[in-house]
Amino acid sequence: MTIHTDTVIIGAGPCGLFQVFELGLLGINAHVIDTLPNPGGQCTELYPDKPIYDIPALPVCGAQELIDRLLEQIAPFKPQFHLGQQVTEVSPRPDGHYALKTSKGTEFLARSVIIAGGVGAFQPVELNVAGVEAHVDSQVFYRVRDPEQHRGRNVVVLGGGDSALDWALNLVGVAESVTLLHRSEKFKAAPASVEKMRALCEAYEMQFLVGQVSGLEQQDGNLKQVRVTGADGVTRRLDLDQMLVFFGLHPKLGPIAEWGLELTKHQINVDMSTYETNVPGIYAIGDICHYPGKKKLILSGFHEAALAAFAIKARLNPGKKVHLQYTTTSPVMRKRLGVDDPYAEDDRAAA
Ligand code: FAD
Repeated sequence: MTIHTDTVIIGAGPCGLFQVFELGLLGINAHVIDTLPNPGGQCTELYPDKPIYDIPALPVCGAQELIDRLLEQIAPFKPQFHLGQQVTEVSPRPDGHYALKTSKGTEFLARSVIIAGGVGAFQPVELNVAGVEAHVDSQVFYRVRDPEQHRGRNVVVLGGGDSALDWALNLVGVAESVTLLHRSEKFKAAPASVEKMRALCEAYEMQFLVGQVSGLEQQDGNLKQVRVTGADGVTRRLDLDQMLVFFGLHPKLGPIAEWGLELTKHQINVDMSTYETNVPGIYAIGDICHYPGKKKLILSGFHEAALAAFAIKARLNPGKKVHLQYTTTSPVMRKRLGVDDPYAEDDRAAA
C-alpha cells in the first residue's frame, strides 16, 4: 500500500524533528523516516548524556533531553514515524510528485521531500575478517531482530558497549550458552551492566573472554568456530552457532548520493533562501546541506527548517502568498498547536 502525503522527511535527527514543527505551523503534515529505531539522530546515537550549551534560551540541555523536548513540541502535529528503515529510492514522477521506497518496502507518494539526513544513515560497523559476509543474517548478526532466533544456540557476542552487554545479558537463559568477547577489560557500557555480567560469569551462567576474532573456521559452508587472538598473543578456537557483532554505528551517505542531487563533498548543495536542492521539490536541511558559510550546528538546522517550510508551503499552494504569522498572535497557528487562545476572552469582551 502506498502512503500518499504532502511531505516526507528523511531523517529524524534534531533538524528533521524541528522541520515537522515548522511545517505543522503552516498546516502541512509530515511522515518521518529514519534508519535508526529511535528518533534523535546524532544526539541520541552519539552523545545522549552530554550537555549542549548553544541552544537559544536553554543555557544547558542534555542531548537526549533536547530530543525529548522536540518530540513534545511536535506532538500536536501528530507526525507519523517510520523507524528502522532506510530510504533507498527517491524518484520523480511526471506529475511533479516523488515516489519513495524504504529498505522495509514501505512506499510513499509525496508532493515534496525534505532530506535531513545529517552525516548519513547510521550503519553497524562490520567485523573485518575474511569470509564473514557469507554468514551475515544466517549466523552472523549486526542487530537482534527477534531474540527467539537465538534460543538454544551457542552465541558469541562481540563488543564492549551498551548493545553488546545488554544483549549478552538478555540472551542468558535464552541461548544455550553466551560468551562475551571484547578486546580489553575496559568497557564503554554502563557500569551496572558490566557488574551484572561479571556476576553471571562467576555463577557460570555466561563466559567473558578478552580477545579479538582473527579468523573463521567453516564446515560445509557453515560457521563452526572462530579463531580468537588473546591479549597474550595466543590464538585459540571457540565453538559457536551464532555471532552477534556490536561494534557501534557509523554514518554512511548511502543511497542519497544516487538521487541526482548536486553535492559538494558529502553535502547537498541548496539555495540558501529556500533550502531547495537542484531537483525542484526536494529540499535539504541540517548537517547534510551545503551553502557558502554553512555551519553544522543544530541552531543553523532550525533556521533552515523554518525557511524550507515557507518554500514548501508556497510550492504546495502555487500562486498564493505565504504570510508570516506569529505563534503569539495567530489564532490559526494556536489552533494548530492545540493551545488555548489567551486573547479570545478579551476579544469576546471587547465585542
Ligand atoms: P543527524 O542528527 O545526523 O540525523 C540525521 C538522521 O538521518 C540520522 O538519524 C540518520 O540515521 C538518518 N538518515 C540518513 N540517511 C537516511 C536514509 N537514507 N534513510 C533514513 N534515514 C536516514 N551541535 C550543536 O549545535 N551544539 C553542540 O554542542 C553539539 N555537540 C555535538 C557533540 C558531538 C559529540 C557530536 C557528534 C555532534 C555535536 N553537534 C552539536 C552537532 C549536532 O549533533 C548536529 O549538527 C545535528 O545532530 C545535526 O542534526 P541533523 O538532524 O541534521 O542530522
